[in-house]
Amino acid sequence: MALVNPMKMIEDAQREGYAIAAFNVYNLETIQAVVEAAWEESSPVIIQTTPGSLEHAGIPYVAACVKTAAELYDIPVCLHLDHCESFDIIMHCIRAGYTSVMIDGSKLPYDENVTIVKKVVDIARRVGVAVEGEIGRIGGTEDDMTTDERDAALTVPEEAWDFARATGVDTLAVAIGTAHGLYKGEPKLDFERLSAINDRVGIPLVLHGGSGVPDGAVRESIKRGICKVNIATELKVPMANAIQGVFTANPRENDPRKYMGAAKEAVKEAARTKIRLCGSVGRA
Ligand SMILES: [Zn+2]
Repeated sequence: MALVNPMKMIEDAQREGYAIAAFNVYNLETIQAVVEAAWEESSPVIIQTTPGSLEHAGIPYVAACVKTAAELYDIPVCLHLDHCESFDIIMHCIRAGYTSVMIDGSKLPYDENVTIVKKVVDIARRVGVAVEGEIGRIGGTEDDMTTDERDAALTVPEEAWDFARATGVDTLAVAIGTAHGLYKGEPKLDFERLSAINDRVGIPLVLHGGSGVPDGAVRESIKRGICKVNIATELKVPMANAIQGVFTANPRENDPRKYMGAAKEAVKEAARTKIRLCGSVGRA
């Protein structure tokens, strides 16, 4: 089918108590792997790219590939822009067919964050595109942006409520102790805070930095209001390992179908595992 606005799949998940996995993709094989895994599990899926990945692959290429992937399979597929700080890139992506965007003003002072997010919401709503905002600051490295632990700030429930109301965002990324990239130790999630935010805000919440969070903690956060779980690192690592494995076995391998084929299989299995963890199997 055609790409869909993600709010129906996310609101279904919120009502029924599961979550939608949102996978960061980088190229043709990662797109194929994610959509094939979702189709085999009869699950709705969100495919997302950061601005850095768009710089690498190009907006028209990504949009065309994901549209084609969506049309080939009979499951709801959303194309989402992850962590974008640029109003211009957001407009480019909406024109190219993205059905959801994240405007990340979390580094800005609160009032400026509200202003830019509201500006994006006002435009996106008119063209049927969903908007994700972020309140509080999630630590770690995403794309080329690094937020060190000192600058990361957990989401305050009252502020989250005010932000959601003032901007009209459809979904809200919350900082509850997760971080982007690889964790040094086991992350400690602030579940009480998550429940407090969920009780106060009401709109679907998004977990960033989901890679490396133990399965039990992901399930617990879904119970407490997380409806979208972002996965990037946990696809990147198996992909790199698979490619490395091919070259370790045969250092002279030069057929891209061999090493990218292995990469695709590894990403597909990792995506399948996350879809099952999110509980969205059979919900397409
Ligand atoms: Zn993120």
